[in-house]
Amino acid sequence: MNKDLHDYPVQFVKGIGPGKAKLLARLEIKTVADALCHIPCRYEDRRLNCRIADLGYELLQSVTGKVISADIINTPRKNMKIFELVVGDGTGFLRAKWFNQPYMKKLFTAGKTVVLSGIVKRDPYSGAGPEMQNPDYEIPGNEQGRDNIHTLRIVPIYRTTAGLGARALRAMMHNIVDFASSRLTEDMPEEILRRYDLLPIKEVFKHIHFPPPEADLNDLNRGVSAYHRRLAFEEFFLLQTGLAVINKGREREKGISFRSEGRLIKRLEKVLPFRLTNAQQRVFAEIQADMRSPGPMNRLLQGDVGSGKTIVALKAMLVAVESGYQAALMAPTEILSEQHYMNVRSLVEELGLRCVLLTGSRKERPLKEIESGDVHIIIGTHALIQENVRFHKLGMVIIDEQHRFGVMQRAMLRKKGLNPDVLVMTATPIPRTLSLTLYGDLDCSVIDELPPRRKQVITRLFREREKGMLYGLIRSEIKKGRQAYIVYPLIEESEKTDLKSAIPGKEAFEKIFPDFRTGLIHGRMKPDEREEIMQSFKKGGIDILVSTTVIEVGVDVPNASLMLIVHAERFGLSQLHQLRGRVGRGTHQSYCFLLAYGKLSEEARRRLDVMVGYTDGFRIAEEDFILRGPGEFFGTRQSGMPDLKVANLVRDARLLSMARKESFKIVEQDPDLSGYPLLRDRVERFWRGKIEIFRTS
Ligand code: ADP
Ligand code: MG
Repeated sequence: MNKDLHDYPVQFVKGIGPGKAKLLARLEIKTVADALCHIPCRYEDRRLNCRIADLGYELLQSVTGKVISADIINTPRKNMKIFELVVGDGTGFLRAKWFNQPYMKKLFTAGKTVVLSGIVKRDPYSGAGPEMQNPDYEIPGNEQGRDNIHTLRIVPIYRTTAGLGARALRAMMHNIVDFASSRLTEDMPEEILRRYDLLPIKEVFKHIHFPPPEADLNDLNRGVSAYHRRLAFEEFFLLQTGLAVINKGREREKGISFRSEGRLIKRLEKVLPFRLTNAQQRVFAEIQADMRSPGPMNRLLQGDVGSGKTIVALKAMLVAVESGYQAALMAPTEILSEQHYMNVRSLVEELGLRCVLLTGSRKERPLKEIESGDVHIIIGTHALIQENVRFHKLGMVIIDEQHRFGVMQRAMLRKKGLNPDVLVMTATPIPRTLSLTLYGDLDCSVIDELPPRRKQVITRLFREREKGMLYGLIRSEIKKGRQAYIVYPLIEESEKTDLKSAIPGKEAFEKIFPDFRTGLIHGRMKPDEREEIMQSFKKGGIDILVSTTVIEVGVDVPNASLMLIVHAERFGLSQLHQLRGRVGRGTHQSYCFLLAYGKLSEEARRRLDVMVGYTDGFRIAEEDFILRGPGEFFGTRQSGMPDLKVANLVRDARLLSMARKESFKIVEQDPDLSGYPLLRDRVERFWRGKIEIFRTS
């Protein structure tokens, strides 16, 4: 779509003006281009004109007739005026009623031809019929030269906002489409349109809003009409072209060729109590090959919870350190970075390396040592990408539990280094279509094997009345010497909900299990306190750790074999899966108990069933994707990805891979799209506010 339509305020389109423009702005429609992309959320079939004698009740139908009478009727109820219209078509009479819209009387005079579209009903009191309440109407010839837009056609239904009626919005959209149709120019490469049989843009916008009579209503409503297809393809294409440009740009940059003989790794292997699985070894070999090659690595490491990603990351860090660089590991929460710090430090200090922790709430800020190069490995949260953090020689960046960081944060951390290698790790496996979108700029490695001797976690659902039995099970596990997590959705009681929460929860469990040692951990505690509690739990000094979801990711205590999730119905699937991943890390049989309260919604029921039924993270991610829809899955918004307005990652997966293929091909030949100025402009605009695709050199 052309530049000028992107900059053209809707306000200046005929029939809109400042007042209506304000209403449109509430729908995030500011320019003509925004309006064109506000596509109907569904379509109604009002094509057929029905004779009044043939009308069927409770069906949506359209009738053309002449006005017989048009009257305001006062009802016994105060403040209620009904405008009643009677039309006849020679086969019978139809009554139409509008409530509290007396001004409508002016529109209809006896003898005029009108079209009415609505659901055919009987009068609720007298049973007389047929009648329509608040039908849509059209008065042919009223708007000169305009086709009917509300009746006798496939009618678009738009998402609207308070103060803006469906009819008014439809009329505005018609004006806008009309305005744009003479100005729209094509900016997608012609050969691609031809290859995939995609319609020209003019036709697409005209018909996606006001479909021609022969259009397939089902296709329209499922969002798979030829018009939808073109727009979805285009969105994917712009998205993927952006990713391809980023990718290509990096490929052309000079990165680091790490040179190490593997001395540190050999020493690490001596102190490790286990051997890497085949999958871990294979993935590490892929990483090592990237690290040796001169271009900067950009790799996504996927592996289910507990598959052992950390140790692979550590090995990569050791390669960097041995080659004379610093390595940084960034995690999404303080607890997780503290945890990584504890683990990594204990291993690398034996190798004579220095490791520090940098998080937002810690007082010690080892900024000097980081800048001077006295420390080799730096672990932390978002704090690592703040401005005042300067590295001495950052060569390797690892980002754990990636789905909370986007392209942009990745770019920021990268800028801190000397074009460092980047390894992004995610524990929640991502359906392929989504990973192409979120991480389409990354190469991918997968650890598809769990460390040996792991038993599957047994998951069970409990209702409130079964609490007694549940406590019995917890008791017997702890008696065996195991430890338990008990997770609550909230830290403390809140007036807004009657959800159970962690602080009173801990007190309650102290009473239930007076002979066990109970601890509490949550996000509002001071880092030192938290670290102390975590250490104590790790060493076995606490039997039951009551917590919030702060322990969701990464926490690793192999002796903890039981997890109870209180109000499991309130958690999302990926969160439940992450939480469950905290147990089943040692050789003991582990349990995950889901305690649900109250009447369960359909969706909550489904989530809990999925958890009980499956342990495979890939499978769960897919179910989650289906249940929640792509938009909410991992919150693409936060991730720094442009929004998709038309395309749907599940429904349009095939279009996505076609678009990806084409965009990468074009960028391969023309890395900064200098031969495609229109496309370049579109891509830049599509990604605006998210990331600067084309760096000004
Ligand atoms: P995640 O992939 O979820 O981050 P971690 O890296 O935390 O998993 O590893 C989970 C647990 O498995 C840790 O206790 C780790 O020490 C252990 N582990 C990792 N690799 C192996 C292996 N090859 N054999 C046995 N245990 C392993
Ligand atoms: Mg981890």
